Amino acid sequence: AAKAQGRNRFSYFTPGLQTAALARLRMTNDLRTAIAENSLRVYFQPIVDIHSGKIQKAEALVRWLHPQRGFISPMEFIPIAETSGLIIAIGDLVFREALCWVRKWRELYRPDFQISINQSPVEFQGDQERYINWIHELALQNLPGQAISVEITEGLLLDASQKITSKLLQFRDAGIQVALDDFGTGYSSLSYLKKFDIDYLKIDQSFVRNLATDASDIVLPEAIIMMAHKLDLKVIAEGVETQQQHDLLKQAGCDFAQGYLFSKPLPPEEFEMLLQRQKT
Ligand code: C2E
Ligand code: MG
Ligand code: MG
Ligand code: MG
Repeated sequence: AAKAQGRNRFSYFTPGLQTAALARLRMTNDLRTAIAENSLRVYFQPIVDIHSGKIQKAEALVRWLHPQRGFISPMEFIPIAETSGLIIAIGDLVFREALCWVRKWRELYRPDFQISINQSPVEFQGDQERYINWIHELALQNLPGQAISVEITEGLLLDASQKITSKLLQFRDAGIQVALDDFGTGYSSLSYLKKFDIDYLKIDQSFVRNLATDASDIVLPEAIIMMAHKLDLKVIAEGVETQQQHDLLKQAGCDFAQGYLFSKPLPPEEFEMLLQRQKT
């Protein structure tokens, strides 16, 4: 055992790991620079009312165009932003950008338009002051809370600390809605759905992917939708890529759909053209 441990300890210093650590460090620095130079972008993906076909909401998704590496996926840099604490600055810039566009789009196209913002557990567990500032900012811009919703993940609700509960209450009091993202991939402790005041369940893409190839795959989304409606929650299906998936979800009573079938995430100016087209 000692020998194995010795080998492991030694392996810590192998070039491979050192390179990985260096790469992470470099990415952290580059990310810090990108934030300072205001070069992160926020894209918007439509969320469509499955019955009317209207774009009712959008999800804000951060984009990083690295000067050498091109677009880097959030899946790659969000974890680094979390460990380095940069996630707070990123979340704040996504919030500000979302606010500016939701204001314009409510004025010009849909008075009830809403933009959802992802909050990683690290940000959500952070200091309460930050969301007080968000709520203050909404008021300053003359926007109701419903202009915004916040996407959190299931894992958070397992840690039912006072901190989490009071933030959810804070949102509710301000009218900000809450969505449970990637639903079905986490611990799915269903009792939490009743306990906390959540407005939307987002059915994870993994439940949507095979809908058209295996007839029995609709069973789980159907059960989720039925349960959600009993609890007075609306359901958004993620990753809807085909008309067939869309139709099955519609039949199952799903409320909203999001995915490449309608559009990939777009820069705000291009997203706006979709809204414009629906208006006329
Ligand atoms: P998410 O919140 O579950 O976002 C949905 C992801 O699915 C997005 O990936 C979106 O581009 C992708 N997607 C949408 N429709 C389809 C489809 O039809 N098919 C497929 N295959 N994929 C689709 P993206 O933008 O790469 O983001 C990945 C994850 O990174 C997000 O998952 C979210 O957890 C995180 N993320 C993105 N932006 C932010 C942010 O501003 N803050 C935080 N904390 N996390 C973010
Ligand atoms: Mg999301
Ligand atoms: Mg998701
Ligand atoms: Mg509610």
